[in-house]
Amino acid sequence: APVIQFKDVVKIYPLKSGDVTAINHISFSVEHGEFISIMGPSGSGKSTLLTMMGCLDTPTYGDIFISGIGVRDMNDTELTNLRRDRIGFIFQYFNLFPLLNVIENVNFPQMLKSQRQVDENKAIEKLRAVQLDERLYTHTPLELSGGQQQRVAIARALINDPDILLCDEPTGNLDSKTGASIMELMSELHRKGATIIVVTHDPNVAEYTDRTVRIVDGRIAS
Ligand code: ADP
Ligand code: ADP
Repeated sequence: APVIQFKDVVKIYPLKSGDVTAINHISFSVEHGEFISIMGPSGSGKSTLLTMMGCLDTPTYGDIFISGIGVRDMNDTELTNLRRDRIGFIFQYFNLFPLLNVIENVNFPQMLKSQRQVDENKAIEKLRAVQLDERLYTHTPLELSGGQQQRVAIARALINDPDILLCDEPTGNLDSKTGASIMELMSELHRKGATIIVVTHDPNVAEYTDRTVRIVDGRIAS
């Protein structure tokens, strides 16, 4: 089964001023190991799409399947476990915990799983994979550069060995050279087998991916 499958998905936000149809009958599949970019104008539905892929929100109509299992059929515990164990999230503004040091940030998802079974070596291994091997115990996120902060965020996203990496404008807050190094890192993760979906405005970012899904007005344009 595809890692992610959308079948005729519609997402409507009910507002007092009238309903907003953010996603308008979208169907597509993401196969294991794909590296996909999602592009489209502001307000076209990209974040809504990513939020539903990450099972952070559910469709108004239609169905989403993760490895063949319908999200609609999962209870809250199953959804929480799915998000924690199988999906890694990366954001434009990193969303790191400012009071925790680097290693504590990376370990955080392990702590949510089991306080007693935090494997610090695993965090070090993931930080090595993103080419960070110093400042781990001595620095908090705001004492690092933007590129280093995003590397910490990627290591944190990788800590539970997720099947899927969902990235919302991962280079949007970085200069172009640092952004390119983050995309090089994503490409390397992809070569090692990761399934990666990147929402971006930046054609240079889309260049790194295997295919681009273009969204216009909540529909797939190409
Ligand atoms: P994009 O990520 O492409 O900018 P979004 O998915 O954020 O697009 O938004 C798609 C549409 O849905 C827009 O019209 C936006 O205003 C609306 N929208 C997004 N999130 C919400 C929400 N939580 N409540 C109401 N409307 C929303
Ligand atoms: P935008 O692309 O419009 O800037 P964000 O990146 O802020 O949107 O958020 C995208 C979606 O992910 C939103 O629906 C938001 O609720 C959700 N989200 C943002 N931060 C987190 C987080 N730390 N954990 C879980 N969900 C989040």
